[in-house]
Amino acid sequence: MKCPYCGFEDLKVIDSRPVDDKTKRRRECTRCGERFTTYEAVEIPLLMVEKRDGSVQLFDKAKLINGIVSAIKKRPVSAEKITEIANYVENYYANALRTVARSTEIGELVLDRLRDIDPVSYIRFASVYKDFTDVDSFVAAISEFDKKDKTEDISEI
Ligand SMILES: [Zn+2]
Repeated sequence: MKCPYCGFEDLKVIDSRPVDDKTKRRRECTRCGERFTTYEAVEIPLLMVEKRDGSVQLFDKAKLINGIVSAIKKRPVSAEKITEIANYVENYYANALRTVARSTEIGELVLDRLRDIDPVSYIRFASVYKDFTDVDSFVAAISEFDKKDKTEDISEI
């Protein structure tokens, strides 16, 4: 980074604080003494989503949050938890250095988190994401959850 006033490259950070999802830094040029502010965002690489029908679209975090919000309707799940789940999905691919995700895989990641947070929201989200075509598959998902629940009970004894 260069000083915007004189172009010198030796800058001193005199203050640093988070603002929204960015870091605000106050810098001072060691040559001319001018001060200026920068906002630096953590770089999240673009993520493309391959849908079931084979089409590709850009990962839309707002859309994902929308989906989670409708699944948790009237359930005791905080906005903080929703953001946490969406960030988890985003970071999952960023950390794995992957730029392409399958929509079904994103659904599974959300389900993994929802399962522990709220069982009712889990079932609701599953019904949307797994595209249940009949009652049997819906019941199967519910019993899958019940099974896991019982296993946990046993492990606690
Ligand atoms: Zn300068």
